[in-house]
Amino acid sequence: MKYQNTQTFAAEMDEKDPLKKYRKAFHFPTFTNNPVVYFTGNSLGLQPKKVKEYVLQELEDWAKWGVEGHFHAKNPWMPYHELLTENSAAVVGAKPEEVVVTHSLTTNLHLLMVSFYKPTSKRYKILCEKKAFPSDQYALQTQVKFHGYSPDDALLQIEAREGEHIIRMEDVKALIAEHKDEIALVMIGGVNYYTGQLWDMESITKWGHEAGALVGFDLAHAAGNINLKLHEWDVDFAAWCGYKYLNSSPGGVSGLFVNERHLGNKELNRFAGWWGQEKETRFLMEEQFKPIATAEAWQVSNAPILGMAAHRAALEMFAEIGMEALCEKRDALTGYLEFIINDISSRYEDVNFEIITPKEKSERGAQLSILAHGKGKSLFDYITQEGVVADWREPNVIRIAPAPMYNNFDDVYRFGQILEQALTNTTKK
Ligand SMILES: *Cc1c(COP(=O)(O)O)cnc(C)c1O
Repeated sequence: MKYQNTQTFAAEMDEKDPLKKYRKAFHFPTFTNNPVVYFTGNSLGLQPKKVKEYVLQELEDWAKWGVEGHFHAKNPWMPYHELLTENSAAVVGAKPEEVVVTHSLTTNLHLLMVSFYKPTSKRYKILCEKKAFPSDQYALQTQVKFHGYSPDDALLQIEAREGEHIIRMEDVKALIAEHKDEIALVMIGGVNYYTGQLWDMESITKWGHEAGALVGFDLAHAAGNINLKLHEWDVDFAAWCGYKYLNSSPGGVSGLFVNERHLGNKELNRFAGWWGQEKETRFLMEEQFKPIATAEAWQVSNAPILGMAAHRAALEMFAEIGMEALCEKRDALTGYLEFIINDISSRYEDVNFEIITPKEKSERGAQLSILAHGKGKSLFDYITQEGVVADWREPNVIRIAPAPMYNNFDDVYRFGQILEQALTNTTKK
């Protein structure tokens, strides 16, 4: 596609965008004096307008029915989570029985590692990212400690080569091969939160399995952003949060995936709770735990209905659009953002915006991470004041993620205009 840095071009692209009507289905923040350019859907997705109706329904039914709402609410709460299964499965490319929406993300990662990190005296290492999201680092460190190992020894951390930002898949393959008799688990973020790099999950799963390890992914930055095929790729397990690209409310519920091959395996370790118990006997309050034969077995607690209601509304929009169409627009929009940034960068001598996210579409999602060489926080503060909601990471990385469901080409164009103003209005720090 031949992009142009003009308002007319952006308007034309928006006009022919098949998903253009969805922008109006979201609330845009209004806290600045200027119209907001919201590029942090990778951190907290915007609120779909229909969430209110879905949440109000449950508040009304709670008022009307009290505890009887579990059976008599319009959408009875007892099986409420089942209303989210099919649409979640479609978002991550899974069979419905492989997916459940429950708890929050880090909690789910722990519960899944209880089942799928099964260290033995020889094979006890976890291959993971060096600069993983902090919550994942703490989860991994405490999991290996829980089994009596030291993180320094048991965590095999892969990192980018000296002077590079992106981790090479050939290095992942080599590291797995090198430690093939020691690795119990490969556990990586599907899209790196910092660089926006999309990992080749299918190949990593294959390499992990060839080495005799299990393979799991944290899909916090991938769910709703990448056209995932967890079942086809033969991934063992995964978890994601609902509040980033999936637009399902702050701190909202998480989804998890367990490959069907592991379902019904009675040998797996579990930290179990009553909602994982077979539905027929759950209320007999029996002593013996009998796990449900689907991913629902990993549910510990009964479902937080209000958060589930928000997620249900948001997931319906993904079901309506489909990941394929969404990813098509994502690539066009992020490609436009890349073009605009490079265009501006090429016209200013004292500034160089280096996009550290891979250039290949197959190696990234919506997010671009920009190293602002020659510019400091004052640049970021300026664009923030002008209405751009983006994310700053020290020392000088700006993370921006146009979300294809509600962002448009005009957002990207306006972002470019504000960035140019910032260049002429801020001094080097
Ligand atoms: C956002 C994010 C989390 C957050 O975990 P919560 O348990 O939902 O607070 C964890 N891991 C990664 C990789 C994330 O991007």
